[in-house]
Amino acid sequence: MPLSKRQTLTQYLIEQRRRFPDASGDLNALILDVALACKAIARAVACGELADMFACFTAPAGATNVQGEVQQRLDVISNQMFVRTTEWSGRLAGMASEEMDDPYQIPECHTRGRYLLAFDPLDGSSNIDVNVSVGSIFSILRAPVPGAAVGVEDFLQPGMRQVAAGYAIYGPATLLVLSVGNGVAGFTLDPSLGEFKLTHPDMRIPADTREFAINTSNRRFWEPPVRRYVDECLAGSAGSRGKDFNMRWIASLVAEAHRILMRGGVFLYPRDTRDPAKPGRLRLLYEANPIGMLIEQAGGRASTGRQAILSVEPTGLHQRIGFVFGSRHEVERIEQYHHEPTGRVSETPLFAERSLFRE
Ligand code: MN
Ligand code: MN
Repeated sequence: MPLSKRQTLTQYLIEQRRRFPDASGDLNALILDVALACKAIARAVACGELADMFACFTAPAGATNVQGEVQQRLDVISNQMFVRTTEWSGRLAGMASEEMDDPYQIPECHTRGRYLLAFDPLDGSSNIDVNVSVGSIFSILRAPVPGAAVGVEDFLQPGMRQVAAGYAIYGPATLLVLSVGNGVAGFTLDPSLGEFKLTHPDMRIPADTREFAINTSNRRFWEPPVRRYVDECLAGSAGSRGKDFNMRWIASLVAEAHRILMRGGVFLYPRDTRDPAKPGRLRLLYEANPIGMLIEQAGGRASTGRQAILSVEPTGLHQRIGFVFGSRHEVERIEQYHHEPTGRVSETPLFAERSLFRE
């Protein structure tokens, strides 16, 4: 099969780097190492239960991570793949991962660099048994003190300071979706070459949508603005929105984000009243911030429901947060509902409610 004219990930990164004549190439090299980890994880995920053939990775199943969640064998293998492909190169000062309680220090035998990598090595892994799409999510920040050992506080930077962010999705096809601060590009893994090829050069999220995604089994814990928004969607063309909505729920953040980047929609995992110790479900540093950067770079909006996710000052490495993202007009509407005093009926006809749906 002849080589197509599509750009490879390497070519794309070199072209992007031309915007910064002084850049050293460290960022590009780091992203390529992350892409290698994703290719290795794609291969392990594709083996399913056969993944125990990766005997070089020690992976006791059934342990729990810092969040108290059961670690799947593939969670541990994927975490090791991220660490092994990136720690050696002299580009990283340290790493943070969903699967590691504390920041990972670059071993003495390697040089420490100027970037920080935060990642969720295998997102959606609690559903891996049912063979739905899962993924890896990563966020790259500048180390406050290049070359130094890292502490938790180094990672506590608002998402707007991310230099690059992306995810890989392991579905029917494996894709890498990436932003280096100049839009969002999607690359499909060509399995015969082992190369990511540019297939989605400029991913854009339409401002309007008729599709929402939320876990409605949590409805009794939702705050009033979220109930109002979802009730209005469910009321469809007979309600105040005057149009019918579809609902989707995959329970895999990467898969939800990918659908929204491909065709629009809105996703909500809002703060709720279930457990005051957990203000939201998703993790800020390695889930909400990188997905938030991609969504905003694609013209969508990413929010806590109250403020832009990328402006939140983090307070903890594994901090959880309410997360709402997708088509801009829908997310802005949800933010407006959060800012209106509870119970107030807006005078604008656009947001008028019918009494049937008020609680
Ligand atoms: Mn995970
Ligand atoms: Mn996750």
